[in-house]
Amino acid sequence: MPEIKEMFECPYCGNNCLEEVMSEVFLYNPITHLEKNGDTVYGPRNKEGQIVQFQCVTCGWTIDVQSTLALYKYLTSPDCPCKPE
Ligand SMILES: [Zn+2]
Repeated sequence: MPEIKEMFECPYCGNNCLEEVMSEVFLYNPITHLEKNGDTVYGPRNKEGQIVQFQCVTCGWTIDVQSTLALYKYLTSPDCPCKPE
């Protein structure tokens, strides 16, 4: 499984960090510890929602696909403009 920085380089700013933008999100936060004063420790959080797009973390350059499978196909297509050298 390749790291994202091996698959993505922003054609606008050259950064290698990609983020998923979601809407209508529900977060599920499992509670593992709960103190008398209300201090809480959470386990790994889960989310559910709709993917709107993927974008460069630095400049917001957008990839307009709505699933990680479609993102993979986009990044591995021969004419993808964001391949790192
Ligand atoms: Zn960028």
